[in-house]
Amino acid sequence: MDIQERIDSYFNDSAVRGELISAISRLVAVKSVKGEPTAEAPFGPGPRAALDEAVKLCAELGFSVRDYDHYVGLADMNDKDTQLHILAHLDVVGEGSGWSTDPYTCVEKDGVLYGRGVSDDKGPLCAALFAMKAVRDLGLPVTKNARLIMGTDEESGSGDIKYYYAREPYAPQSFSPDADFPLINVEKGQFRPVFGASWPAVMVEPRVSVLSGGFRFNVVPPEASAEVLGLRAADITPLCPTVERMSGAMFTVTDMVGGARIHCTGKNAHAASPDDGVNAIQAMLELLSALPLAQCQSTRAIRALKERFPLGDTRGKALGIAQKDDSGELTVNLALMTLSETGFSAQFDARVPVCATVENCVQVCEKALGEAGFTLTGGAQMVPAHVVAADTPLVKTLLECYSAYTGVRDPKPMAIGGGTYVHDIPGGVAFGCDFPGFDPKMHSANEQASVDNLIKSAKIFALAIARLCR
Ligand SMILES: [Zn+2]
Repeated sequence: MDIQERIDSYFNDSAVRGELISAISRLVAVKSVKGEPTAEAPFGPGPRAALDEAVKLCAELGFSVRDYDHYVGLADMNDKDTQLHILAHLDVVGEGSGWSTDPYTCVEKDGVLYGRGVSDDKGPLCAALFAMKAVRDLGLPVTKNARLIMGTDEESGSGDIKYYYAREPYAPQSFSPDADFPLINVEKGQFRPVFGASWPAVMVEPRVSVLSGGFRFNVVPPEASAEVLGLRAADITPLCPTVERMSGAMFTVTDMVGGARIHCTGKNAHAASPDDGVNAIQAMLELLSALPLAQCQSTRAIRALKERFPLGDTRGKALGIAQKDDSGELTVNLALMTLSETGFSAQFDARVPVCATVENCVQVCEKALGEAGFTLTGGAQMVPAHVVAADTPLVKTLLECYSAYTGVRDPKPMAIGGGTYVHDIPGGVAFGCDFPGFDPKMHSANEQASVDNLIKSAKIFALAIARLCR
């Protein structure tokens, strides 16, 4: 049998399948949501407990392990020079509501695992771990080491691997099973400026006295609300249907003492794909701009914002930064805004293609916002795109291994707007474990993972490790 067949039959053994599921179950049972840091637990007690459990698991499986200052756990396949880093993470996002089963008990039903972390990222972590185990158990010929790096802070800024790589060298090759198959080799850059203006309070009416919308910089804002002094609901309601038709958002307007309150409901989506959402802040700006407001600073700010972030413009056309190349189109999400009687602050999240520069993006924005009297108040740096050439040995080998167990011919690497765990790792790519056509419901209720897909992932990883560390 050749190596590919030996790996195949190794993982087709039901005992190995059972071991993999029980390893995942052990990790899912630890609620590893970020918490208050302590000296012994830099990301709180939950991630620390998951780290302890994972290090214990790896040691039981016969790997040499290390708890690296409680930031990451390390498992080495052998004691040779390290050729490959595999980055997976043990922390999870909170469970939220709407689960049909206990989120911290891994349950298998009809070949599908349910539980927080089964697909992001405890299941893929175990698939990689068992891939290393397979290479060792089968005695496949390797002259180099593969190191599994088990992080504890991927969901909240990746302080875990920043700490590790500030002290340790990168490996010649790295991949992370924390995204999609076939493979992601291009991640757009990010530009997320905070900007605003301030002014003295005035008493003229009608005026907008309060506006707030959005809850996180990387989510299309699903809600926005505003208060308008000096107008009644009856003055505003007739203007709503037009904006509702244009935007897809819904308004409710109610009277309050001295004015009216407006609530706008849009639809959330990830900032990297703003076309999937309905931006409630932009819809609100459109409606407010159509009202007969008094000339004052808040009115001018609202209308100037509407000019620069008009409805439907998710490409930065009005800001003057629209651009695209092979890595995709620049996208813009006006994510957060709060306005009071004395000023406003807002933040947008742009995902920028490889061709974006300080000159054609950052400076153009500064000018467009400056002309409206707005200033950038911080965070105006651009994180450059992450690009690994499609013809590198790593990318070619990984895609061949994917092809070997899926039968997909000539799979192509992908460019995405989001950033993955390897965004700051030179030459690193995201590789698995989501297969096209299966929705793992990551970060949502009833997160799930197909056991067959995890087994297939483990086979792909084992073949990749055997080839890359040969
Ligand atoms: Zn993840």
